[in-house]
Amino acid sequence: MLVGGDNMEGMKVCSNCGVEKGLDEFGNQKQGKFGKNSMCKICKKEYSHLEYIRNKETYERYREENKDKIKLNSKEYRSKNKDMLSERRSIIYTENPEKFRKKSIEYARKHPEKKKEWLKNNPDYMKKYHEENRDWLLEQGAKHRKNNPEEKKEWGIKNRAHVKSYNEDYKKDKGKELSLYGKNYTEDNRNKLTDVYIKGLLHVSLNISSMDITPGLIIAKRAQLKLRRAINSVC
Ligand SMILES: [Zn+2]
Repeated sequence: MLVGGDNMEGMKVCSNCGVEKGLDEFGNQKQGKFGKNSMCKICKKEYSHLEYIRNKETYERYREENKDKIKLNSKEYRSKNKDMLSERRSIIYTENPEKFRKKSIEYARKHPEKKKEWLKNNPDYMKKYHEENRDWLLEQGAKHRKNNPEEKKEWGIKNRAHVKSYNEDYKKDKGKELSLYGKNYTEDNRNKLTDVYIKGLLHVSLNISSMDITPGLIIAKRAQLKLRRAINSVC
């Protein structure tokens, strides 16, 4: 049976564009026919937008006058719907991680104090982040220092006292351990004739910068040292 252009098979005619559409193309409205809006979603959206523009001043004035109330309401809404919102966020994230990432970076840039506070409340996050991205971060840091030598120098000058006292404290704490470690480290390098050890020798004996020490020179020096050690051990 047709009722004013509506039929009973899940179809409804939009009061605005006059097109017959499926019920799911209409928004919900308790008092409406079939519990639906009289306008289809597309028309309703356009209508709301026009309505907003027509009454922009009134809306904005209302928002301005009720700032605190609105803030409180949305805070309440967020806390009441925490699970739903977080689920929605995670869906958005899985569907478009790149967009989500960009948005959160933008947000953090705009609200540095919020970022600081969040990090303070989530200390494990940074720890984990540093662990997971260790190599990349080290590489970035080295790159940055290489491209900004002035900055590195400046930092050193500015923090000279700080670095000095840090080193002293560290030595006081770990002095014995450190010297033992240093000793073992050098001995180990000496025994194994590592590149580091040979470079150090060449640097001192030939008085050249480590930048000028070629792999070939290291190989030759290593052979010479091995030979000398072999001779010493039998003499
Ligand atoms: Zn319509």
